[in-house]
Amino acid sequence: MADCIFCKIVKKEIPSSTVYENKKVLAFLDIYPVNKGHVLIIPKKHYDTLTDIPDELLADVIKATKKIAKSVMKAMRADGFNVGMNNYKAAGQLVPHAHFHIIPRFSNDGLKLWAQGSYQEGEMKPIAESIKKNIA
Ligand code: AMP
Ligand code: ZN
Repeated sequence: MADCIFCKIVKKEIPSSTVYENKKVLAFLDIYPVNKGHVLIIPKKHYDTLTDIPDELLADVIKATKKIAKSVMKAMRADGFNVGMNNYKAAGQLVPHAHFHIIPRFSNDGLKLWAQGSYQEGEMKPIAESIKKNIA
């Protein structure tokens, strides 16, 4: 897409700190890292969200994510890592070119990424059933 910032990175129209590249996948440092060493992994071809990426390409993207996660752990001497993905504006997706985040984590980094709630009695079953029914 012409005005997509990540497509521009793929075309090298704007610079990035690339850490990995193959025919279909590109990975580069997030310029505003949650922790230093935070990497973004994208399919070179533009797709808006996770569910738009064809399965075969998604396999390439997730394989690259696994490979890079190992190197982020080593390079940053991290104690762990989060893999995350925001899909659609409501979920905090700012760049509408699908991407995975690898965020290196440290035992004492104090980050809490998820605020968790709870269910009322009887609320879980219909939700689980509805999700099950909608699996294509
Ligand atoms: P998201 O909210 O999941 O869409 O995340 C978009 C991410 O892209 C944010 O974490 C930004 O810091 C990052 N970002 C935006 N522009 C650039 C850029 N030019 N180079 C590297 N990372 C970027
Ligand atoms: Zn794009």
